[in-house]
Amino acid sequence: MSNGMDDRRRGLEEEYFHRKNKEAIEKLRAKLKASEEAKAAGASSMKCPRCDGTLHESKFEEVLIDTCDKCGGIWLDSGELEQLTVKERETPGWFDRFWFAEG
Ligand SMILES: [Zn+2]
Repeated sequence: MSNGMDDRRRGLEEEYFHRKNKEAIEKLRAKLKASEEAKAAGASSMKCPRCDGTLHESKFEEVLIDTCDKCGGIWLDSGELEQLTVKERETPGWFDRFWFAEG
């Protein structure tokens, strides 16, 4: 019995999620970079690296994230990034809502 169709479909889904993850990770990396630069510049870790808003730690899907009360930016450390991408593999789709909700 050949399972070719299923394998092909699974392959396309894998590719799709791989690409989506890559986009999200690149987005997150840009944010992490900005965050690290702000820290290196001596800014308070609770200050938004993008604007002069304040970061508030909150829990999103069991992952702690810092969100800015002014620009709505979301900041993560590398461990949190890993948790989020693992979560996306387990529950495809919520990550999209997460990013679109950011505005
Ligand atoms: Zn901000």
